[in-house]
Amino acid sequence: MRHRVGIVGAGWTGAVAGRLLTDAGMAVEVLEKADVVGGHSRAETLHGVVYEPNGAHIFHTSDPAVNRFVNSHGLTRPYDHQVLTEVYLSPDDEEHEGRLLSWPPQVAELQALPVWPTVERELADLPPTPNGDNFEDYVVSMMGRTLYDLFIRDYTAKQWGRPATELSARFAPKRVELRRDGVRGLFRDRWQYFPPKGINEVIESVLSTVAVTLNTEVSVDHADDLARDYNAVIVTAALDDFARCPGELEWRGIEMVSHYSPTDDPAGVVTPAYVTNRPSLRVPYTRTVETKHATGQHIGGTVVSQEMPGAPHRHYPVLTADGANERRNAELAAAIAERVPIPVYFAGRLATYRYINQDEAIADAMAVADRVAADLAG
Ligand SMILES: Cc1cc2nc3c(=O)[nH]c(=O)nc-3n(C[C@H](O)[C@H](O)[C@H](O)COP(=O)(O)OP(=O)(O)OC[C@H]3O[C@@H](n4cnc5c(N)ncnc54)[C@H](O)[C@@H]3O)c2cc1C
Repeated sequence: MRHRVGIVGAGWTGAVAGRLLTDAGMAVEVLEKADVVGGHSRAETLHGVVYEPNGAHIFHTSDPAVNRFVNSHGLTRPYDHQVLTEVYLSPDDEEHEGRLLSWPPQVAELQALPVWPTVERELADLPPTPNGDNFEDYVVSMMGRTLYDLFIRDYTAKQWGRPATELSARFAPKRVELRRDGVRGLFRDRWQYFPPKGINEVIESVLSTVAVTLNTEVSVDHADDLARDYNAVIVTAALDDFARCPGELEWRGIEMVSHYSPTDDPAGVVTPAYVTNRPSLRVPYTRTVETKHATGQHIGGTVVSQEMPGAPHRHYPVLTADGANERRNAELAAAIAERVPIPVYFAGRLATYRYINQDEAIADAMAVADRVAADLAG
């Protein structure tokens, strides 16, 4: 008898798990609430210009198995992602354009700034290894107060809507760095790609042999239907949503406000980089995204998106210093597994309440597919 597996969600995690289990001979059905597949990483077009309605998505990985998998689905176009930050050095600067500096900050660029003597003194006083119980203390111990104030403080306050002293230090090592080696590329992974038409084509290729049902929202209320139709289910949805108790988990969301501008030159762009961080409190958004820098699309026009923080969407889990939200997510997982009378597996960025990149979502999907196959075989 062929084992039947239901998968909730057709983003990277659901797509890859669905493909691997289909390839393993199981009868898989991916159930997606939207009318398209691709999840959060999806790109769209506005007047023919490819842009990203859910924020910039650069694919990068050092995992050979993930790399082989995406290559086999056409994701091969190399890309080197470089980010700029617009900073205001003094009140005087407020009247003018900000200065564009590399992100992460580069010591060689900082040495040319008037604040360098202060920065240099602070760097000399840093502890040998960064430390601190909250995000602010940790980052200050990594780069000193002046650089923290210029690059991080206001960006973090806008992004998270709460002081950095209330945020966990855990995600600082992954997100913040001070560079002394002159390398401009943001990511240090072995492979990095940007598909010319956005990631949709790749996810659609992954799903090309998988049964997908769109416009179908699944929740714990469908526990009996799931048990009737499948031998196991993989949930990639947010658990407060799936368990029908919105508000139980804290999330931070963004809204991309996107504008089309015509350009005379088909290669024309209007902002300095694909992603430009805008930490200043002078603007309400945290960064601008102009995907045309990354696609290299040849078209008369461009789209710039302003990333507005504080939107009511489930984008970033809020990892507080006390870990309360992660504990609540584990409780919700246990309650769902209790309600659904077949084995339930949780994978991906939403269901496991983690900020994970696309390559990590794929690795998660590979691991959950292995577990499901092994459990059903046993
Ligand atoms: C602002 C932002 C920027 C990012 N930038 C990058 C980047 O540059 N590089 C990178 O590698 N990663 C980036 N990521 C992470 C990337 O988006 C995730 O790794 C990826 O989306 C994870 O895929 P997923 O399938 O787990 O989740 P999703 O892509 O969110 O897919 C979940 C799917 O489940 C569906 N769904 C939800 N609930 C239900 C339900 N109840 N019933 C049926 N369907 C449901 C959703 O509609 C969605 O299609 C970024 C994330 C954010 C928030």
